[in-house]
Amino acid sequence: MSVTQQQVLDSLARIKSPRGVALTNANVLSAISASGGKVFFSINVDAAEARAWESIRAEAEAAVRAIPGVTTVMVALTAERKPGSAPPPPPPTPSRGAPGVQPVHAHKPPQGGQSPMSRQSEIPGVAAVIAVASGKGGVGKSTTALNLALGLRDLGLKVGLLDADIYGPSVPRLTGLRDKPELNAERKMIPLRRFGLAIMSIGFLVEEETAMIWRGPMVMSAVTQMLRDVEWGRLDVLVVDMPPGTGDAQLTLAQNVPLKGAVIVSTPQDLSLIDARRGLAMFKKVNVPVLGIVENMSYFQCPHCGTKSDIFGHGGARHEAEKLGVPFLGEIPLHMAIRATSDAGNPVVDSEPDGAHAAIYRAIAGHVRDQLKGVIAAA
Ligand code: ADP
Repeated sequence: MSVTQQQVLDSLARIKSPRGVALTNANVLSAISASGGKVFFSINVDAAEARAWESIRAEAEAAVRAIPGVTTVMVALTAERKPGSAPPPPPPTPSRGAPGVQPVHAHKPPQGGQSPMSRQSEIPGVAAVIAVASGKGGVGKSTTALNLALGLRDLGLKVGLLDADIYGPSVPRLTGLRDKPELNAERKMIPLRRFGLAIMSIGFLVEEETAMIWRGPMVMSAVTQMLRDVEWGRLDVLVVDMPPGTGDAQLTLAQNVPLKGAVIVSTPQDLSLIDARRGLAMFKKVNVPVLGIVENMSYFQCPHCGTKSDIFGHGGARHEAEKLGVPFLGEIPLHMAIRATSDAGNPVVDSEPDGAHAAIYRAIAGHVRDQLKGVIAAA
């Protein structure tokens, strides 16, 4: 049974804001995504009033969950600080009682010079969270994130993958997973499992197009929920596929996710390298160590004769990494097999484990693992 936006609005109309106005008239609701039994929306309030809204968020979520046919509800409370207003109160302890209960994150710029660890608590059981980022979309970031996760798995590590590319979650396509995560007894979401990885994607909860319209604070809210309200279990590494770009949403994410390091994916062209440089600067700003740069689509390898051609130039990322003093992690060719296996939900490291491409991803994974050794061993 599918649920309509109107049904959701009807149930929200019965809930009152802290000032006694119906939620539907309080000018705080985002667009409502209701597709199949999945409902997603956010309540956007001023940070100064966020505390008062938390119980209303929970009430709204419970009301929507009670609509017949609703299977998943995610209601994010997002708070924006008005210029010149007082700083928001510290986030309330996230309730474990409902999957959508969410701490509030004010959308404020990061402060330089502070370790991200001092601002973000770690995720219990997860030794290292690392980001895979790119300065722009379409450079193969998600493909690299998944194959890197598989390379780490092949090195004997316990690995998870969080698709935080909220503007275009591609992990459902890359893994062939379409199921909805179940809740455990504590109402935490249980990540899906495939290829020996624990996998979570916003794409399991909402339709791909819905996520495109989200604003920065909502992105942060949803990603925090996927980090903390998911039963990740014990992991050596959790690979986070970041949204592409270096805008406010990405910066806030880089600041708020307890990252041990970041991998930047770039193609060799100048334009993409400029974007990669912005990515480096962004992680530097929030004191997240850059584990290195991967050059994707580094050269074209003909699937018939194996000849290499440097369509996008070649070696740009390696030079850039040297210039910037960050490790160069490796070159991945532009190859039909990588595209075809990715798009068919059978990533190349898993489907062609003995092939040359899998070996390249494993070598990159080896460089990453070596840099995280201390952290993983300590855990
Ligand atoms: P992003 O996450 O940066 O937007 P994706 O990982 O979704 O990029 O990749 C974009 C497209 O490029 C996909 O169709 C993917 O299969 C393809 N692709 C990525 N890397 C390679 C590669 N090395 N060789 C061939 N195709 C690739």
